[in-house]
This record gives sequence, structure tokens and C-alpha cells, in this order.
Amino acid sequence: MYPCGGPRFLSGRVNDWFEWWAMEIECPRCRVPNREVARFCARCGLFLEEGLDGRRVAGCIRHPHPAEIPDGYEPCAGAVALHFRTESSLGGDILIATEGINVLVFNSGYALREVVFDVRGTGKDGRELFAVERAVGALAQGAEAVLEIPSYELPAPLGTLEVALRSAEFDWEA
Ligand SMILES: [Zn+2]
Repeated sequence: MYPCGGPRFLSGRVNDWFEWWAMEIECPRCRVPNREVARFCARCGLFLEEGLDGRRVAGCIRHPHPAEIPDGYEPCAGAVALHFRTESSLGGDILIATEGINVLVFNSGYALREVVFDVRGTGKDGRELFAVERAVGALAQGAEAVLEIPSYELPAPLGTLEVALRSAEFDWEA
């Protein structure tokens, strides 16, 4: 359906407007096409704003009502709503420096599944100690997962830890 009877009668400017109006984006969660001007998916309600680096993929799309992030968490690279902190595998602060480490990942945004993280540890001298992949089956909004780095993967005391999202799928909200 064209305004004014058909596109050949429209000026270029109106045509541009029409093309913009008619452009569709596929919802990255339910795969339904939506008009680009729509802010939320007509079927599943996903926020359709462009995500991190312009990508509309799981882990990169901001949630319009994020869960409150607990104190002491820092952002995971490559994600908008994943945050992490570390603690000793014995519980609490890291004490003896070579004990195992638990990386606690908190999701403040959309529910995710098949979440894969790259975890990289650097020693106090800046040397890389380990670089491992960790996967989490499901991570709902407001939920936390534990990524374990056992002591045998820690050849020396940890200086800094980086956690980056490698990939994820959207999960359905509970
Ligand atoms: Zn959708």
C-alpha cells in the first residue's frame, strides 16, 4: 500500500521516507520481522534498539528494566548486562593467592542460555597465567552463575582477571 497511488509518483524524498518506514528488522529472539520504527518486538516484546557495537544479538541488547547490579561487580567485556566479581573457592576474599577462584557472573538483562565466556588471568608481573573457556547452560535475569578456576590452573598468584562474553542465545523469560 503506497500513499499517493504508487512509488513512481513520489518524489525521491518521500520514497526515502517510505523505504525507511517499510524497513524491517528480524527479532533476534523470536525471529519475527518487525518494522524498524518499532521499539519492541510485536510478538515477544524484546527491546529492538541497536545493541553494543550496533549488534542485535543476545548479550548485547540492553534491557529496558535491568535488574539492580549488586555492589562489587565489574562489567564483562562484550556484553551490556553481564557483570562479574571473584572470590576464593574456599569462600570470601582470596587469601593465599594460589587457591582456586570462583568467578561469579551476574545477569541484569535479558535471560540467556548457552552462555560462553572467555576468562583470562594475568599474574602480578603482567604475564598471562591462564586463558580458559567456561560455559553456562542458563542465566536468567537477576541470576548468578559460578565459573570455577581450579587451583591447578593457577601457576602463580593472580593479578588481574578479565571476563568476556564470547557468545550466547536468548532464553525465554520464566
Ligand atoms: Zn521477538
